[in-house]
Order: sequence, then C-alpha cells, then structure tokens
Amino acid sequence: MTGYFSTPFPRRHSVGVDVGGVTVGGDAPVIVQSMTNTDTADIDQTVAQVAALHRAGSEIVRITVDRDESAAAVPAIRERLERLGINVPLVGDFHYIGHKLLADHPACAEALAKYRINPGNVGFKDKKDKQFAAIVEKAIFYDKPVRIGVNWGSLDQELLTRLMDENQANGSPLTAQEVMREAIVQSALLSAEAAEQLGLGRDKIILSAKVSQVQDLIAVYTMLAERCDHALHLGLTEAGMGSKGIVASSAAMGILLQQGIGDTIRISLTPEPNGDRTREVQVAQELLQTMGFRQFVPIVAACPGCGRTTSTVFQELAQNIQEGIRKNMPEWRKKYPGVEELKVAVMGCIVNGPGESKHADIGISLPGTGEMPAAPVFIDGKKAMTLRGPDIAQDFEKMVADYIEQ
Ligand code: SF4
Repeated sequence: MTGYFSTPFPRRHSVGVDVGGVTVGGDAPVIVQSMTNTDTADIDQTVAQVAALHRAGSEIVRITVDRDESAAAVPAIRERLERLGINVPLVGDFHYIGHKLLADHPACAEALAKYRINPGNVGFKDKKDKQFAAIVEKAIFYDKPVRIGVNWGSLDQELLTRLMDENQANGSPLTAQEVMREAIVQSALLSAEAAEQLGLGRDKIILSAKVSQVQDLIAVYTMLAERCDHALHLGLTEAGMGSKGIVASSAAMGILLQQGIGDTIRISLTPEPNGDRTREVQVAQELLQTMGFRQFVPIVAACPGCGRTTSTVFQELAQNIQEGIRKNMPEWRKKYPGVEELKVAVMGCIVNGPGESKHADIGISLPGTGEMPAAPVFIDGKKAMTLRGPDIAQDFEKMVADYIEQ
C-alpha cells in the first residue's frame, strides 16, 4: 500500500496526560473525542451511544453527570461497556454540583477516567474556591486527571468584571472583545495554577477554552499555547448544524492544528434530525486525516464529475466504496494492520481516470460519455484488468475487498 502523507507539522510541546490509558499531549497523536447526548441515567441508551461513538472512532467519550441518578448510573455504564469489550475512557462532565456528586458517589468517581471542571460554574463567591478544591482533591485521591474547561457561555463573571474594571482604569487599551478573550485565558490558567497548588500534577491537567466564533477561538488558543505547556483540548462550542458547523470547526481548528496547537479535538455539531451522533467523530477524523496528522480510514479519491459523465454510476460507486470501508474498518483494523493507509480511486472518465488510478493502490476509470463501455482497473500502479458489462460497480467493490484481504 502506498504511504499517503508526508511528515506531520511540528507540534507545540505539552505535558502528556494519561486519560484511562489514552495519552493526550506529549508525543501522542491528536486524539479524537466526542460526547453523548443521552440522559446518563438511562443506562441502555448511554451504553449504546458510547459504543456507537467508540466504533466510529472516538478515542475518549464524555458523558453528562448532572445529578444523583446519572452519577449512580456511571459504574453500571462502565461495567456494561467492558462486558461488550469496549474500554474507551469515560469522562464525567460536571457543572455546579460536581464536588457533591463526586463525594456522594465514590463508585462513579472511580469509574470515570477524567473529570471535567467548569471554573465558571463550579461555585460562586465564597463557595467557589472550596468547591473547586473539593473536585481537585477527589481527582488526587482517585488518581484521575481533570480538564479545566472554560466556556464563553459560562465564563467566570467576577473575573470578567474585574478585568473590565482594570482595563477601564488603565484608559481602556483593550477592546471589550480583547478583555473577554483575556478573561477566558486567565480563567483557565488561574484555575490550573490553583489545582497545582492543591497538589494536582501538571500531568493531570488538560485545558480548554471554548468559544463560538472562529477568530476568538484562534486568538484564545494561541494565547493559551504561548502561556503554558498544559495539554490543550480544542473545540468550537455551539458550532451549529450541518455544513456551517463543519466549516466553522474545521477552519478554526485547522489553523490551530497547523501551528502545532491542540492535543485532542472535539467537533461539536448539533445532531442531525436523524439523531446520528457519530457524524462529529467522522468529521474530526477527516479533519486530522486531510491535514496529514493521522490516518484513520483509507482515502477514496473521486473526481467531481462533469459533462463527460451522464450517469451517476461513479458517484454511487465512490459512495458505496467509502461507506463499505467505514463499516468494515473496526474489523479490518484488527485483521489488517496498515489498512488505513490504503488509497482507492474512483474516476469518472479517461481524462484523469487512468492517471489518478495509477497513483492509488487500487483504482478504476469508469467509462465517460462516448467512451467504450469498459473500465480499466489499476492495482499498485499497473493496469490489472478491464471490467465490462452491467456489474462493473459491484465487480470493483469486490476487487477492493479482495485487495484489502490479500
Ligand atoms: Fe470529468 Fe473525467 Fe475529470 Fe471526472 S475525470 S471530472 S468525468 S473530465
């Protein structure tokens, strides 16, 4: 199989964090993670969605832990997943009462691989530091890492107000947007500092600072990357639905990843009406793969089609090949190491078909309008055969499967 990518770009140095056996930061590749949207108290649904996300390629899955019922369900979810042979690390997403839930549900604290703390709502006024400390102490006690996850929508208002006042007292050198960005960065860094002072190791702290605007995200993470060496979790929050969410997330994270910033990513897409949550995992994988950082699934190169293709055979073939590969990947990955490096080409006519197909491990050039009804197939850069007849598409799909198996 041909190698598809050149050397990845240099990464920013960060301290690696072990999240239930998956390293985030350090020398580890950029990790793909996602989050369920089930009620965690519903064990069946949560297990099913964690399993689906993991099968799609999510290497860490976060679940909401918002009340006693959900905290009580976590050990059973962990156990059920293990019985299914799924060891994906589970992260507990805590807001407001995380300190209480972790104290009241020791089995939940033990079953989770990481705790997410939101410094903007961990507690208010005089309770804030105490409740933050209570979560950090649990993390130390159970030997778990934390993600200090600042979010623009729940930013620490006391800190923001203080920075606004200071800026005004200094003659307002910063715009309101710049003060907001500074407040987000400071909230993450001050919280990390406080956690370290409480005794949590640097190798137990991941930071995130999620905002909903692309330029804000780039600015905030660039500032964070300059000011610390904590592992960074990238994510554009409230990215939106469909192509808008995909484009916004890819634009923001692509620029940061290109600069070597980011140790784990989550693409936060509003779920499609059909409820499929795995799309965000697929997009995250495609972002990392197209940028050359990781390889998850074989690439299917397909031309866009033009007036030389009047039928939709080649689009359908390209789609079937891509979907078939995705479906079989969990199995193939185990059986055929390196399968993700495969490159398949499905081309619509003779203009670029043979050339592109020769650059792939296996490729086909379908007949365009006016061409002979024959489709040359290229394997490892050489013409292997010509397919003819009404079953060209099915024959080629079988050839791809056979090639992988051989
Ligand atoms: Fe059109 Fe042929 Fe190019 Fe495909 S390979 S876009 S069908 S000219």
